[in-house]
Formats: sequence, C-alpha cells, structure tokens
Amino acid sequence: MTDTVAQQLPLNSETWQKTLHWQPSETQQGLFQRLYQGVLDGNRQANLTRITEPSGFWEKHLWDSLSGLAPWYEPEKPEWLPTVKTVIDIGTGGGFPGLPVAIAKPQWHITLLDSTRKKIAFLETLCSQLELTNTAFLAERAETAGRAPMHRAQYDLAMVRAVGPASTCAEYALPLLKKSGYAVLFRGQWTDEEEDLFMGALDTLGGELVAICPWETPLTQGIRHCIYVKKIEKTDKEFPRQVGVPAKYPL
Ligand code: SAM
Repeated sequence: MTDTVAQQLPLNSETWQKTLHWQPSETQQGLFQRLYQGVLDGNRQANLTRITEPSGFWEKHLWDSLSGLAPWYEPEKPEWLPTVKTVIDIGTGGGFPGLPVAIAKPQWHITLLDSTRKKIAFLETLCSQLELTNTAFLAERAETAGRAPMHRAQYDLAMVRAVGPASTCAEYALPLLKKSGYAVLFRGQWTDEEEDLFMGALDTLGGELVAICPWETPLTQGIRHCIYVKKIEKTDKEFPRQVGVPAKYPL
C-alpha cells in the first residue's frame, strides 16, 4: 500500500528544451512520475532523499541527473562525443543520476552500483515495477568492483554524483572504464585548486580532462559543473586502492 501519493511533477517542457535541447516523451514523463512515487515510498525504509516536493525533485534529481547528458543532446555534437552502450552509476543512492538516464536513454544499459545493499534491493524492486529492462544492480564497493575482472574496464561511461572529492570519484571511475571510455563527474562549485589536484589524479589514473560544463540549475539558480574525462591509458593495477583508502587519502 502507498501512504504518500506523489503530487504531479511539473512538465517544464520549455525549460528542458532551452537547457538540454530535449523534452521527455509522454511515456518518459509517465516514468518520471512513477519514479517519483517510488522514491517517496522507498524513503520510508531506505532514507533515499530529503528532496521530496515536486519542483525540487524535478530540478535536483531529474534535471540535474540529465544535465550530464547535455553533450549527447547538443544540436552540433562535440567531436569527442563517444558512442555509449554500457554505463555504470557509481554510488547511485536512490538511483541518481542512473534512473533518469535509464529512462531518457532506453538504448543504453545502466548498472546501478552502491555499497548499501538496502538501496540496491530497493532499486531492483523499483525498476521491476517501472518495467525498466535496461538496468542491472551491484551491491558492492566501487573499490571492489574496480578490481573484479567482470567489471574492470567494461564500461563506456561512468557517472558519479555526490560521492566525494573529485579525485576520489576519478579513482572509482577510471578503472571501470574501457580505454577511450568517459566519466562524467557531477560537481557543485569547481575551483582552480580542485582542478589542480584533479589533474594530478588523472595523470596517475590514465585520464584526460576533456570538458568542463558550467550550469545554473533552472529553477533555483544553483551552481553546478559537469566534468568530462576520457580514459586515455590503461589504469595501473594498483588502482583503485583498498576499500576506504581513496576517500580517506584522495590522490
Ligand atoms: N548519487 C546519488 C545522488 O546523487 O543522489 C547518491 C549520493 S549519496 C550522497 C552517496 C552514495 O554513495 C551513498 O548511497 C553511498 O552508499 C554510496 N557510496 C559511497 N562510497 C561508496 C563506495 N566506495 N562504493 C560504492 N558506493 C559508495
């Protein structure tokens, strides 16, 4: 039984169009609404998000998740844009950015990874209710997955939002990418100091900074940056380091 009936999400068609040159189809809008209801229901057991009112959910979960896909929606595609089939969302939590991406890009296959088993169990049930067939689930630490032959160097695209310092996110993401794969890091503020540290980490991990895309969120004008990284070299087998080390001692 559902206790909280989700209010209607705003359509904000013009805002989608103006910012991302894209609008959800009726089916996708219906899936966003069911995702919203599912997350509100799941919040009762799994503490998934504090953002529960419709415009906040739309902006901070749906729009923010899809802002990372902006290069794929550009009318003139950037020359570096990769072809994507396999995606991993590292530290997906309540399914962000992975679930909005799975809805927006049904031809991509998205693995949702989180170290909290309860969150992954919730996402598995939710995706089955939403009949999303392009998702897979991994209750694992990113450091462990990055060393497992089944996952290491297997993905075209890795996405990481709100999981720690940029260098830590890079250490989680790069080992999981195929050579020439891409990582999108979703950041808030982005400072020169952070960029300097990050460049050093990328050097160590075999990555190259390709683009930094600054954003203002469309309803509340929050500062965001999407950071695009290409894996140009095989990552040394000493990375990722042991569980807990990348977060405690970022490169
Ligand atoms: N990405 C989601 C979002 O933006 O709403 C969730 C962000 S939440 C602040 C961070 C999530 O990352 C938590 O669900 C946590 O369990 C997961 N996490 C943190 N470190 C991790 C690691 N090393 N491996 C896998 N998951 C991790």
